[in-house]
Amino acid sequence: MSETIETSEETDTDANTRKTVTIVVPVYNEAENIPHFAAAVDEAMAGLPYDYEILFVDDGSREESREVLRKTVAADPHVRALYLSRNYGHQAALTCGIDNAEGDAVVTMDGDMQHPPALLPKLLGLWEQGYDVVQTIRQTTQGVSAFKRLTSKYYYKALNLISEVPVQPGGSDFRLLDRQAVLALRQYREHDRFIRGIVGAMGFRQVQVPFVAPERYAGTSKFSLKKMAKFALDGILGNSILPLRISFYIGLVSLLLSFALFGHVLFETYEGDTVPGWSTIVIVMAFFGGTQLMVLGILGEYIGHIFREVKGRPLYLVDKSAGHLTNERETTYNTGR
Ligand code: UDP
Ligand code: MG
Repeated sequence: MSETIETSEETDTDANTRKTVTIVVPVYNEAENIPHFAAAVDEAMAGLPYDYEILFVDDGSREESREVLRKTVAADPHVRALYLSRNYGHQAALTCGIDNAEGDAVVTMDGDMQHPPALLPKLLGLWEQGYDVVQTIRQTTQGVSAFKRLTSKYYYKALNLISEVPVQPGGSDFRLLDRQAVLALRQYREHDRFIRGIVGAMGFRQVQVPFVAPERYAGTSKFSLKKMAKFALDGILGNSILPLRISFYIGLVSLLLSFALFGHVLFETYEGDTVPGWSTIVIVMAFFGGTQLMVLGILGEYIGHIFREVKGRPLYLVDKSAGHLTNERETTYNTGR
């Protein structure tokens, strides 16, 4: 009996000393990439002192692709898989993986080798130095069209102009999150998600690692122009309420212009070369046009507030605490609900 206790204590301490890492990988019809990717991660993690698991989140792939995943799970003890009921999109699949990841550190990456597994030791090294978020920044993507490169570049420029928090150009969803950052990210439950913006807004100790994205190992991009456009829009709408305010400013300008017009109309009427009724019509149109846009802007402002409330984002995130606090590990009080 005492022997059993000793053995279990031994395994306990052993398990406690080795940190765990979960690698979250959303995949959508990546049959050819999955086994190759898993092997590349195994190779990168082989010499490192971590217990790790590769958690594939299958985002409603076709049956053949799921079959490959089932075989990979059977062949590699490090691999686990979750199958979503249909295609929900990359950001939702990522969220599912993050919600189910148990590691002390969680790395999210694409399954097509465009996020090189060879970088894993570097990311983990920075984590060991105490960073909570190790964010990779894509310098260039090999073999990508000029159209995608340019739209991406100017998109991030525009987004940064209006976003409430800075969004790094070239920021990708290839990043390492410490457990604390994972728990924080789980509190953001908005539906139209732009995880890059959320992670940027979270704070904590963040560090950036530049990398060059190689071409896909196999297959073609799973992001159609339509999916890309929706994602781009989510990025803007999720991080800024400026679009709602635009009509207020346009309204303000046209109202001011209408006063100038008012002067012009009075002058013309005084001169006498106007058709009867013209002055009133022009003044009324300009004045109400401006007023209407301004009122729309005010409505927009309220909608912006509603939008922020329904997102239910945490009001604040605690980084550390010192001394004894009864609520130390509670995170549910800060959602404002
Ligand atoms: N992906 C997904 N659901 C989708 C679209 C893509 O899970 O609806 C996955 C895809 O399998 C890949 C990652 O998200 O692992 C990135 O997609 P992709 O490589 O096609 O995007 P790109 O690199 O072309 O921007
Ligand atoms: Mg890719």
